Amino acid sequence: MKKIIIFIGGPGSGKGTQAKRIVEKYGYGHLSTGDLLRKMENDQHLSPAKQEALVQMRAGNLVPDWLIFELAFDEILRQVKQGKGIVLDGAIRNVKQAEGYQEFFKRENLLNEVIVIEIKLSDEEALHRVHKRKVCGACGEIFPNSTTSEIPPVCTKCGGELMVRVDDSLAILKHRLATQGEVANGPIRDFYKQIGILEAVDGSQTVPVVENEIEKILQAR
Ligand code: AMP
Repeated sequence: MKKIIIFIGGPGSGKGTQAKRIVEKYGYGHLSTGDLLRKMENDQHLSPAKQEALVQMRAGNLVPDWLIFELAFDEILRQVKQGKGIVLDGAIRNVKQAEGYQEFFKRENLLNEVIVIEIKLSDEEALHRVHKRKVCGACGEIFPNSTTSEIPPVCTKCGGELMVRVDDSLAILKHRLATQGEVANGPIRDFYKQIGILEAVDGSQTVPVVENEIEKILQAR
Protein backbone atom coordinates (compact mmCIF):
# COMPACT_ATOMS: atom_id res chain seq x y z
CA MET A 1 0.00 0.00 0.00
CA LYS A 2 1.25 3.49 -0.82
CA LYS A 3 2.71 5.45 2.08
CA ILE A 4 1.25 8.83 1.11
CA ILE A 5 -2.49 8.93 0.52
CA ILE A 6 -3.82 12.28 -0.62
CA PHE A 7 -7.54 13.03 -0.40
CA ILE A 8 -8.93 15.83 -2.51
CA GLY A 9 -12.55 16.96 -2.61
CA GLY A 10 -14.61 19.93 -1.46
CA PRO A 11 -15.87 20.78 2.03
CA GLY A 12 -18.16 18.04 3.35
CA SER A 13 -17.06 15.43 0.79
CA GLY A 14 -16.01 13.05 3.59
CA LYS A 15 -12.21 13.48 3.38
CA GLY A 16 -11.85 13.82 7.15
CA THR A 17 -14.11 10.87 7.95
CA GLN A 18 -12.37 8.57 5.47
CA ALA A 19 -8.91 9.74 6.56
CA LYS A 20 -9.78 8.79 10.15
CA ARG A 21 -10.84 5.29 9.02
CA ILE A 22 -7.46 4.71 7.36
CA VAL A 23 -5.65 6.00 10.43
CA GLU A 24 -7.61 3.57 12.64
CA LYS A 25 -7.13 0.59 10.30
CA TYR A 26 -3.52 1.01 9.26
CA GLY A 27 -1.91 3.16 11.94
CA TYR A 28 -1.18 5.90 9.39
CA GLY A 29 -0.59 9.47 10.53
CA HIS A 30 -3.33 12.03 9.83
CA LEU A 31 -2.44 15.40 8.37
CA SER A 32 -5.43 17.73 8.34
CA THR A 33 -4.20 21.23 7.54
CA GLY A 34 -7.61 22.56 8.65
CA ASP A 35 -7.16 20.97 12.11
CA LEU A 36 -3.59 22.30 12.38
CA LEU A 37 -4.76 25.80 11.48
CA ARG A 38 -7.59 25.64 14.04
CA LYS A 39 -5.05 24.56 16.68
CA MET A 40 -2.97 27.66 15.86
CA GLU A 41 -5.90 29.74 17.18
CA ASN A 42 -4.72 28.89 20.73
CA ASP A 43 -1.19 30.21 20.15
CA GLN A 44 -0.69 33.66 21.73
CA HIS A 45 2.65 34.28 19.97
CA LEU A 46 1.76 34.00 16.30
CA SER A 47 3.54 36.22 13.75
CA PRO A 48 1.34 38.92 12.12
CA ALA A 49 1.42 36.93 8.86
CA LYS A 50 0.03 33.86 10.61
CA GLN A 51 -2.60 35.90 12.45
CA GLU A 52 -3.71 37.30 9.10
CA ALA A 53 -3.88 33.76 7.69
CA LEU A 54 -6.28 32.79 10.49
CA VAL A 55 -8.47 35.82 9.74
CA GLN A 56 -8.67 34.55 6.14
CA MET A 57 -9.50 31.05 7.34
CA ARG A 58 -12.39 32.28 9.49
CA ALA A 59 -13.76 34.14 6.47
CA GLY A 60 -13.68 30.92 4.42
CA ASN A 61 -10.69 31.90 2.24
CA LEU A 62 -7.60 29.81 1.57
CA VAL A 63 -4.52 30.53 3.68
CA PRO A 64 -1.20 31.18 1.85
CA ASP A 65 0.63 28.24 0.29
CA TRP A 66 3.86 28.87 2.29
CA LEU A 67 1.98 28.29 5.54
CA ILE A 68 0.51 25.02 4.26
CA PHE A 69 3.99 23.81 3.22
CA GLU A 70 5.40 24.85 6.60
CA LEU A 71 2.70 22.87 8.42
CA ALA A 72 2.78 19.83 6.17
CA PHE A 73 6.29 18.96 4.98
CA ASP A 74 7.94 18.40 8.38
CA GLU A 75 5.02 16.33 9.57
CA ILE A 76 5.09 14.13 6.45
CA LEU A 77 8.82 13.49 6.89
CA ARG A 78 8.38 12.78 10.59
CA GLN A 79 5.86 10.03 9.86
CA VAL A 80 7.71 8.55 6.91
CA LYS A 81 11.03 8.43 8.80
CA GLN A 82 9.29 6.35 11.48
CA GLY A 83 8.36 3.91 8.69
CA LYS A 84 4.72 5.00 8.84
CA GLY A 85 2.33 6.15 6.16
CA ILE A 86 0.32 9.36 6.24
CA VAL A 87 -3.06 10.54 4.98
CA LEU A 88 -3.25 14.10 3.66
CA ASP A 89 -6.74 15.40 4.33
CA GLY A 90 -7.51 18.68 2.58
CA ALA A 91 -3.82 19.53 2.54
CA ILE A 92 -3.90 20.44 -1.19
CA ARG A 93 -6.39 23.03 -2.46
CA ASN A 94 -4.90 24.59 -5.55
CA VAL A 95 -2.56 23.60 -8.39
CA LYS A 96 0.37 25.63 -7.00
CA GLN A 97 0.17 23.58 -3.82
CA ALA A 98 -0.12 20.33 -5.80
CA GLU A 99 3.06 21.30 -7.69
CA GLY A 100 4.85 22.30 -4.48
CA TYR A 101 4.07 18.96 -2.85
CA GLN A 102 5.23 17.02 -5.95
CA GLU A 103 8.55 18.90 -5.89
CA PHE A 104 8.89 18.09 -2.19
CA PHE A 105 8.11 14.38 -2.80
CA LYS A 106 10.68 14.34 -5.60
CA ARG A 107 13.37 15.92 -3.37
CA GLU A 108 12.64 13.35 -0.67
CA ASN A 109 12.53 10.42 -3.09
CA LEU A 110 8.89 9.71 -2.29
CA LEU A 111 7.26 10.12 -5.71
CA ASN A 112 6.48 6.41 -6.03
CA GLU A 113 4.72 6.41 -2.66
CA VAL A 114 1.94 8.84 -3.61
CA ILE A 115 -1.68 8.11 -4.52
CA VAL A 116 -4.43 10.71 -4.88
CA ILE A 117 -8.08 9.88 -4.27
CA GLU A 118 -10.76 12.38 -5.18
CA ILE A 119 -14.00 12.11 -3.18
CA LYS A 120 -16.58 13.55 -5.53
CA LEU A 121 -19.61 15.38 -4.18
CA SER A 122 -21.82 18.07 -5.70
CA ASP A 123 -21.73 21.47 -4.00
CA GLU A 124 -25.47 21.16 -3.44
CA GLU A 125 -25.13 17.95 -1.44
CA ALA A 126 -22.10 19.31 0.40
CA LEU A 127 -24.09 22.34 1.46
CA HIS A 128 -26.77 20.13 2.96
CA ARG A 129 -24.26 17.93 4.81
CA VAL A 130 -22.07 20.64 6.21
CA HIS A 131 -24.69 23.18 7.17
CA LYS A 132 -25.69 22.18 10.71
CA ARG A 133 -23.03 19.44 10.99
CA LYS A 134 -21.24 19.16 14.31
CA VAL A 135 -17.67 18.33 15.22
CA CYS A 136 -16.35 16.94 18.52
CA GLY A 137 -14.22 19.58 20.25
CA ALA A 138 -12.15 16.86 21.93
CA CYS A 139 -11.41 14.16 19.32
CA GLY A 140 -12.49 15.82 16.06
CA GLU A 141 -15.09 13.19 15.10
CA ILE A 142 -17.45 14.64 12.46
CA PHE A 143 -21.26 14.30 12.64
CA PRO A 144 -22.75 15.33 9.28
CA ASN A 145 -26.24 16.67 8.89
CA SER A 146 -28.20 13.72 7.52
CA THR A 147 -31.82 12.88 6.74
CA THR A 148 -31.36 9.32 8.02
CA SER A 149 -29.66 9.82 11.39
CA GLU A 150 -29.93 12.36 14.20
CA ILE A 151 -26.85 14.15 15.52
CA PRO A 152 -26.23 12.79 19.06
CA PRO A 153 -26.09 15.17 22.07
CA VAL A 154 -22.41 14.36 22.77
CA CYS A 155 -19.62 12.62 20.84
CA THR A 156 -20.34 8.89 20.48
CA LYS A 157 -16.58 8.14 20.35
CA CYS A 158 -15.28 10.00 23.40
CA GLY A 159 -18.24 11.75 25.09
CA GLY A 160 -16.77 15.16 24.17
CA GLU A 161 -18.83 18.28 23.57
CA LEU A 162 -20.08 18.76 20.01
CA MET A 163 -19.79 22.17 18.36
CA VAL A 164 -20.46 23.97 15.10
CA ARG A 165 -17.37 25.32 13.30
CA VAL A 166 -17.37 29.11 12.82
CA ASP A 167 -16.74 28.66 9.10
CA ASP A 168 -19.74 26.30 8.72
CA SER A 169 -22.22 29.19 9.01
CA LEU A 170 -24.36 29.38 5.87
CA ALA A 171 -22.82 32.51 4.31
CA ILE A 172 -19.21 31.40 4.88
CA LEU A 173 -19.99 27.87 3.82
CA LYS A 174 -21.40 29.09 0.50
CA HIS A 175 -18.21 31.09 -0.02
CA ARG A 176 -16.05 28.04 0.83
CA LEU A 177 -17.97 25.94 -1.67
CA ALA A 178 -17.50 28.59 -4.35
CA THR A 179 -13.74 28.76 -3.72
CA GLN A 180 -12.98 25.17 -2.63
CA GLY A 181 -15.84 23.12 -4.10
CA GLU A 182 -16.49 21.45 -7.45
CA VAL A 183 -15.14 24.27 -9.62
CA ALA A 184 -11.92 24.70 -7.63
CA ASN A 185 -11.20 20.97 -7.63
CA GLY A 186 -11.28 20.69 -11.45
CA PRO A 187 -7.73 21.97 -12.15
CA ILE A 188 -6.29 19.96 -9.22
CA ARG A 189 -7.92 16.81 -10.55
CA ASP A 190 -6.55 17.53 -14.07
CA PHE A 191 -3.04 18.01 -12.67
CA TYR A 192 -3.04 14.60 -10.96
CA LYS A 193 -4.79 12.88 -13.85
CA GLN A 194 -2.06 14.04 -16.18
CA ILE A 195 0.66 12.50 -14.03
CA GLY A 196 -1.34 9.27 -13.68
CA ILE A 197 -1.82 9.05 -9.92
CA LEU A 198 -5.51 9.98 -9.64
CA GLU A 199 -8.36 7.70 -8.52
CA ALA A 200 -11.92 8.78 -7.71
CA VAL A 201 -14.87 7.61 -5.64
CA ASP A 202 -18.47 8.80 -5.51
CA GLY A 203 -18.76 10.59 -2.15
CA SER A 204 -22.56 10.71 -2.19
CA GLN A 205 -22.67 7.04 -1.11
CA THR A 206 -22.78 5.97 2.55
CA VAL A 207 -19.60 6.12 4.64
CA PRO A 208 -19.07 2.29 4.65
CA VAL A 209 -19.55 2.04 0.87
CA VAL A 210 -17.08 4.86 0.20
CA GLU A 211 -14.68 3.26 2.68
CA ASN A 212 -14.93 -0.06 0.88
CA GLU A 213 -14.22 1.51 -2.52
CA ILE A 214 -11.23 3.35 -1.12
CA GLU A 215 -9.96 0.12 0.42
CA LYS A 216 -10.11 -1.61 -2.99
CA ILE A 217 -8.19 1.23 -4.64
CA LEU A 218 -5.51 1.16 -1.95
CA GLN A 219 -5.06 -2.61 -2.19
CA ALA A 220 -4.86 -2.54 -5.99
CA ARG A 221 -2.10 0.08 -6.18
P1 AMP B 1 -11.04 22.15 6.61
O1 AMP B 1 -11.04 21.86 8.07
O2 AMP B 1 -10.26 21.11 5.85
O3 AMP B 1 -12.40 22.37 6.05
O4 AMP B 1 -10.24 23.54 6.42
C1 AMP B 1 -10.67 24.71 7.08
C2 AMP B 1 -10.05 25.93 6.45
O5 AMP B 1 -8.63 25.90 6.60
C3 AMP B 1 -10.27 26.11 4.95
O6 AMP B 1 -11.53 26.69 4.68
C4 AMP B 1 -9.10 27.04 4.61
O7 AMP B 1 -9.37 28.36 5.04
C5 AMP B 1 -7.98 26.52 5.48
N1 AMP B 1 -7.17 25.48 4.79
C6 AMP B 1 -7.06 24.17 5.14
N2 AMP B 1 -6.22 23.53 4.30
C7 AMP B 1 -5.79 24.44 3.40
C8 AMP B 1 -4.92 24.40 2.28
N3 AMP B 1 -4.32 23.27 1.88
N4 AMP B 1 -4.70 25.56 1.60
C9 AMP B 1 -5.26 26.71 1.97
N5 AMP B 1 -6.12 26.83 3.00
C10 AMP B 1 -6.39 25.69 3.73
